[in-house]
Amino acid sequence: MPVHIPDTVESAVEHLAADPDATVLAGGTDLMVEVNDGHRRPGSTVVLVNRIAELRSWRHDPTAGQLTIGAAMTYRELMEAPIASMSAALAHASRTVGSPQIRNAGTLGGNLGTCSPAGDGLPVLVALDAVIELASTTGRRSVPISEFIVGVKQNALRSGELIVSITIPVVDGFQAYAKVGVRNAMVIAVASACLVIDRPRRRVGVALGSVGPRILRCPDAEQDLTDSLDWDTLTASPADLERFGRMVSEASRPITDHRSTEEYRRHAVGVLARRLARRASQVEVAA
Ligand SMILES: Cc1cc2nc3c(=O)[nH]c(=O)nc-3n(C[C@H](O)[C@H](O)[C@H](O)COP(=O)(O)OP(=O)(O)OC[C@H]3O[C@@H](n4cnc5c(N)ncnc54)[C@H](O)[C@@H]3O)c2cc1C
Repeated sequence: MPVHIPDTVESAVEHLAADPDATVLAGGTDLMVEVNDGHRRPGSTVVLVNRIAELRSWRHDPTAGQLTIGAAMTYRELMEAPIASMSAALAHASRTVGSPQIRNAGTLGGNLGTCSPAGDGLPVLVALDAVIELASTTGRRSVPISEFIVGVKQNALRSGELIVSITIPVVDGFQAYAKVGVRNAMVIAVASACLVIDRPRRRVGVALGSVGPRILRCPDAEQDLTDSLDWDTLTASPADLERFGRMVSEASRPITDHRSTEEYRRHAVGVLARRLARRASQVEVAA
């Protein structure tokens, strides 16, 4: 099968426009499993995108307080400085993905391409209100993550489009990600949660993975924690934390499957959220 290896976004999208049947390949850790299992057949050509410099790079805009991450950056790169110091939650999530081999090959763009409700990068992007940049031969467009994820393993990518980058705010406050699985490593999340507390903007973001058909936000729980939090110390009372965890559980829409039950998932995601919120009070907050 012909493999096209472009070194620019323009060359990649020209190829995708010329051959609408082409398949984009990044680290291959999702795609090749599907091909090997016979669930998917690659198109007439493969476009390998992990040699494109723009997709392999990142940039920090301190004025805008934003970090832009190339779609073909790997989990190993995201779990290390300097990215890890700008997005602790993304680093936490990256550390939980697969094994060292998977983290060396798997990319954030591939997580978005697959768009599984269990994808570990996705709750972080949702809690941070990430913006996804897409390119095609007709130009580029920016899509908020809330519009990019449209269903179970479904996203807003159009034919001929490439995921170029992901932009997230660099948050002053607290951010963390946690997941529960059937063991401690090499595990798909049974339930996961990301909590972001943006101190200057007085904003709380909570996003849940593996407890619904897509990554879920919890607007009621977010508002409740916003109201009950002491914004100087990022602490909340035990009763407030308890209620926050309960509201997160109530916002989940889990199912029972071969990995876990609906009841366990609902319980676990509330516990995860409560623990994350309790951890926020343990971070040192600048006076
Ligand atoms: C053993 C194992 C363990 C795993 N553990 C985890 C885990 O713990 N957590 C987790 O979240 N995932 C896990 N995964 C799944 C996988 O590693 C991740 O989803 C990873 O992010 C996929 O990235 P990739 O670069 O390998 O994507 P690929 O397999 O190359 O592509 C995946 C999909 O995205 C599309 N795509 C990729 N890049 C782009 C782009 N730039 N533009 C448009 N479309 C694109 C491809 O066409 C394909 O449809 C695991 C996989 C394996 C095999």
